[in-house]
Amino acid sequence: MSYDTVRDVDPAVADALEGERTRQNETLAMIASENHVSTAVLEAQSSELTNKYAEGYPGERYYGGCTYADKIEELAIERAKELWGAEHVNVQPHSGTQANMGVYLAMLDAGDKILSLELEHGGHLSHGHPANFTGKTYEVEQYQVDAETGYIDYDGLAEKAASFEPDIIVSGYSAYPRDIDWEAIQDVADDVGAYHLADIAHITGLVAAGVHSSPVGIADFVTGSTHKTIRAGRGGLIMCKEEYADKVDAAVFPGSQGGPLMHNVAGKAVGFGEALEPAFKEYAQQVVDNAKALADQLQEHGFSLVSDGTDNHLVLVDLRESHPDTTGKDAEEALEETGIVLNANTVPGETRSAFNPSGIRAGTPGLTTRGFDEEATREVADLIARVVENYDDEAVKTAVSERVAELTDEFSLYD
Ligand SMILES: *Cc1c(COP(=O)(O)O)cnc(C)c1O
Repeated sequence: MSYDTVRDVDPAVADALEGERTRQNETLAMIASENHVSTAVLEAQSSELTNKYAEGYPGERYYGGCTYADKIEELAIERAKELWGAEHVNVQPHSGTQANMGVYLAMLDAGDKILSLELEHGGHLSHGHPANFTGKTYEVEQYQVDAETGYIDYDGLAEKAASFEPDIIVSGYSAYPRDIDWEAIQDVADDVGAYHLADIAHITGLVAAGVHSSPVGIADFVTGSTHKTIRAGRGGLIMCKEEYADKVDAAVFPGSQGGPLMHNVAGKAVGFGEALEPAFKEYAQQVVDNAKALADQLQEHGFSLVSDGTDNHLVLVDLRESHPDTTGKDAEEALEETGIVLNANTVPGETRSAFNPSGIRAGTPGLTTRGFDEEATREVADLIARVVENYDDEAVKTAVSERVAELTDEFSLYD
């Protein structure tokens, strides 16, 4: 048994790990799907449970020695049920994509039909993109957001559903700044006899805290990622009505995974426990308040936002009107040079390409974890505007980097 540290045995990896910690400390993480977990979640995720095989479910394992694995998975399940009010929870999916796979495998056969939102309009690869297993395995039709308003086109969705007759309708999105009318989508699913999967990957934390409407109890299946707004470390989960519990569990294991990543399940248990504390409600409310402040201040600078604002943790800027010659990639790269990290994103009615699109997506979960309030977030919007307006001006970028360094010092992160 070696007790050496990573630094002792592997300086190359140690340097990169230290580099990543410094990068997170010294930059503003505004990628809307990212967040920073607590050191307690980090500790659980790097525990000895990484050694343990626990194929099966608590009390029904295929391996011995599962006393503590059982305890931890039970805690994660119990806490998830309390957080989201779900009848049944599976905490084993390795990621949000694996969670969706679990639902598809449980309920669909190859060749069955999925109706989902177009990727360019805010959907996700695992909802039927041709490059993803879903696009290769199932027949896929897509609905859109309204070109004028940027809101989900619920009437268009109903029309598509009536003509396509899907087996499952997928709601829940990756780049959609507005609240979602789960009941309207459930009504469409009921009308055409389809299942409804609500994928709340981005908004798990907001839904748990009650600052975003919840699909739990409305949709048949709810899936999520555990590392985004809920801040419980990398992974996924599935929630469903009791009647689908056995099918879903069997689709995850043995259907599509082997041994669960029990160290990550431990991270989920700790993160869910933290999210049950009253402070998490305040955090989630602040995430939304900060996103509104970000939206408002960007609009002050003349940026146009898809849907004209936000109800959740993110904003989607369409640069075409305000900065027709600046692409999302130009903005992303210039901002990263100054320590503001966000991503170029397609916008509805995209006229460029997925690789070099016309928008940028920015979220507030990471900033809020660092303690940013609305005032500090407005200043970040000012900095973003300065950089985008002067993206090839080195002096501006240097000045902004200096201010970002002060902000990351003031709102510190990991020791
Ligand atoms: C992030 C995301 C996922 C997938 O999460 P991974 O954990 O990266 O697999 C699934 N669905 C939506 C809508 C997402 O935004």
